[in-house]
Amino acid sequence: MPAQTVVNPVEFLRHKRDGREHTPGELKAFIDAFVKGEVADYQASAWLMAAFLNGLSDTETLALTQAMLHSGSVLTLPSVKRARVDKHSTGGVGDKISLCLAPLVAACGVAVPMISGRALGHTGGTLDKLEAIPGFRVDLDAKRFERIVRDVGTCLIGQTEKLAPADRRLYALRDVTATVECIPLIVASILSKKLAEGIDGLVLDVKCGGGAFMKDSKSARALAQALVTVGKGAGKRVTALITDMSAPIGRSIGNALETREAIEILRNGGPADTRALTLELGAEMLVLGRRCKTRKAAWPLLEAALADGSALTIFRRMVKAQGGDARVVDDPSRLPHSKVQHVVTASKAGYLTAIDAYALGVLAIELGAGRTRADQQIDPAAGFELAVSVGSRVARGAALLTIHAASRELVRSVEKRAHQAFQVGARAPKPRPLVLARMH
Ligand code: URA
Repeated sequence: MPAQTVVNPVEFLRHKRDGREHTPGELKAFIDAFVKGEVADYQASAWLMAAFLNGLSDTETLALTQAMLHSGSVLTLPSVKRARVDKHSTGGVGDKISLCLAPLVAACGVAVPMISGRALGHTGGTLDKLEAIPGFRVDLDAKRFERIVRDVGTCLIGQTEKLAPADRRLYALRDVTATVECIPLIVASILSKKLAEGIDGLVLDVKCGGGAFMKDSKSARALAQALVTVGKGAGKRVTALITDMSAPIGRSIGNALETREAIEILRNGGPADTRALTLELGAEMLVLGRRCKTRKAAWPLLEAALADGSALTIFRRMVKAQGGDARVVDDPSRLPHSKVQHVVTASKAGYLTAIDAYALGVLAIELGAGRTRADQQIDPAAGFELAVSVGSRVARGAALLTIHAASRELVRSVEKRAHQAFQVGARAPKPRPLVLARMH
């Protein structure tokens, strides 16, 4: 096939249908033609299914990633003179890490240009959490994004029309053709967007467990390995951590509640697991940004930036630069509040053996913290505040969680199922490590 100029979509489809390998040139020609409208959505959908069923090699995945990346503009951030490193999480419940991690790493001298997403399925989205701050804007153009990264050290925005348009269109087709859960397609989708940010390095937080998209360690490892291989193939420094998502991270689920927890971390407090994960990921980022030689050396730097308030200062400056009300940083009670707060209690005494993160993620959507349709308004104040974590000893009648909702009806509709998300047993469970594996 004369790859660079013309693509015959039917031949291209037949190729993958029959399990053959595409050349990088063929993939580029196909993606270019798709973006120009010369390949129909039904043909792209048929190819996605063929790729889903027959797979893509690492070479094909890299070529697809590059073709999708170059389907739009690629930022280079020439005025940012520091190393630039980002983090991407594959999505979990209560995952507010980006909000505290980005300013923390910036406070330690590595720039963090971060293009984030909205809530997806049962998982929350960084942009929705930031928008809980009154006035906060995530729709900044590339120039302003670069200026804030240069002046403040970090800026968190949403994907623009111009970045990786092939991904936006392919993702919309995958969503309605049952082709989302395919590792090469996920890798190309994530990396095409992240590589468009103008970064030198990327840390991937691949979540594993009931509250993640990758439920078991085999699939989480396969995804992490593919992300590292393809990211490195694209010339970036990449490390992946596989981290536990069998229970929610920290004590809050829901946009304003999670933003509040992220601020607590930046004030050198907050739940131990949220802090530990922030530090683990931050240490990886400082190493990839060549600020520190080892993770061990990075740890005290990060802890100092939390203790001396410099990370909080960066967060305050970022909020201000992005149009948000910076007073929330010192007075988080200015974040939106729910009308109704209702405490759910334990019906028996014992040890908390499990918290069903997936169930709480789904119930948070029912409360209005997430969406079931793309055009839906969310309630920034809705969600859950956990009073306990896995391993806690609970007395009968002790608080398990507080439901934050806009009405009593909403509380009533989720209360029983929220209670069922907690399992109490006679014996304390074996503690699970936060970081299950590291790949680089
Ligand atoms: N997130 C993405 O950006 N793309 C995928 O394919 C899956 C998760």
